[in-house]
Amino acid sequence: MRKPRVVILGAGYGGLITITRLQKQISVDEAEITLVNRNDYHYETTWLHEASAGTLHHDRARYQIKDIIDNNRVKFVKDTVVSIDKEAKKVVLENGEVEYDYLVISLGAHPETFGIKGLKEFAFGITSIDSARQLREHLEYQFATYNMEAEKKDERLTIVVGGAGFTGIEFLGELGNRIPELCKEYDIDFKKVRILCVEAAPTALPGFDPELVDYAVNHLQKKGVEFMIGTAIKECIEDGIIVAKGEELETIKAGTVVWAAGVRGNSVVEEAGFENMRGRVKVDGYLRAPGHDEVFIIGDCSLIINEEINRPYPPTAQIAMQQGETCAKNLAVAIRGRGEMGTFTPDIKGSVASLGEDDAVGVVFGKKLVGTKASFMKKMIDNRALYMVGGPSLVLKKGKFNIL
Ligand code: FAD
Ligand code: NAD
Repeated sequence: MRKPRVVILGAGYGGLITITRLQKQISVDEAEITLVNRNDYHYETTWLHEASAGTLHHDRARYQIKDIIDNNRVKFVKDTVVSIDKEAKKVVLENGEVEYDYLVISLGAHPETFGIKGLKEFAFGITSIDSARQLREHLEYQFATYNMEAEKKDERLTIVVGGAGFTGIEFLGELGNRIPELCKEYDIDFKKVRILCVEAAPTALPGFDPELVDYAVNHLQKKGVEFMIGTAIKECIEDGIIVAKGEELETIKAGTVVWAAGVRGNSVVEEAGFENMRGRVKVDGYLRAPGHDEVFIIGDCSLIINEEINRPYPPTAQIAMQQGETCAKNLAVAIRGRGEMGTFTPDIKGSVASLGEDDAVGVVFGKKLVGTKASFMKKMIDNRALYMVGGPSLVLKKGKFNIL
């Protein structure tokens, strides 16, 4: 009898936890496992703000997939998923096709642009190693070019960050460290630089503890960040943005615009025809797509409702990794046709936002933390993610030990 074919799409947090758990739970005779990922490396999405600002080399934020998976049990295919034909149970890749009996979709998020004109063309994103390298180089180019021009254009040194959610705030924290370094390296007076965060909501970090929001905003303001709160980006143009505060429109010239104003599920999910909300599929308790018991969807492509407030949980690595554990268990049950599947309930331990190298704000196990304690905790969380996937050796190779 043919072995069931399990195909896992995406080697991010959700995909790698699923694979590392599944390869231990089932034997080679029980299933044929294939992992498909665009790159032959995994990157820590949660470290991309550092790689994008240039405070951490991008190689520190990635590692080879072959060093993590059991290559005797898992076939790795380096390719890009183009589409999913859920009726024919096959996945179309840029360079071929794979058929499945069980599918795991863990392809992560895409930026949510809300259809705002010009963002796709002119704004940078914090989405991958490629985008991080491009943004880091662009920032450096702006500083390197400034003194070369006969007529100096100060707007070249204006950096706009759209969105003061966790991603925007963490990126601003890194800029707070990186920009003074760039000024020194390229003989530029820091006063010429403008770092501007534009946030549509009435506060930065909407929904987060107000005291911690104040701490974060004050910290970033001291580092030179200017906030435009209650102001929405309406359009991105070649040399800046157009914002709206109430009825009034304003054009702000900027050499760099970074869009960090939210995410939606991977477009492959929407295009495959699963019922979805902004690319995220409301999965059942066992993490399966409605009407498709053979398709598991986890991480940023899935939608889990927080029953207490009747709203979706924000997509996080924390949830993606927990889902990976349940998904592996449920796949093993499905493959064997016996046992009981586990239902998924997020166990939210807290959240911490870094504010550069040695500061942060967060709530962990219900306790508020700021400053070096919070920063220590953030590094522990980053190291824990490495440990969960690759054990102590991965922590030793890639871990953050610059702990105060
Ligand atoms: P990902 O980990 O993003 O992995 C998706 C994988 O799929 C990637 O390897 C990608 O290359 C691959 N892929 C995508 N499309 C294709 C395709 N078409 N074909 C083949 N492969 C493809 N969450 C936290 O809990 N804590 C944090 O501190 C935190 N910090 C963050 C900081 C930043 C800057 C950002 C942007 C996000 C942060 N998040 C954090 C959110 C967290 O990163 C995501 O929720 C998490 O990465 C989701 O995991 P995932 O497995 O769904 O996707
Ligand atoms: P987000 O949705 O959390 O925040 C986006 C922000 O952009 C919001 O504050 C929103 O009001 C603002 N915004 C939207 N449209 C705008 C516009 N036109 N102009 C100006 N502002 C606009 O998105 P995110 O920060 O990218 O985070 C994505 C997910 O990743 C979230 O679930 C978040 O919790 C998670 N994350 C977690 C961490 C962490 O735990 N340290 C870090 C980064 C991201």
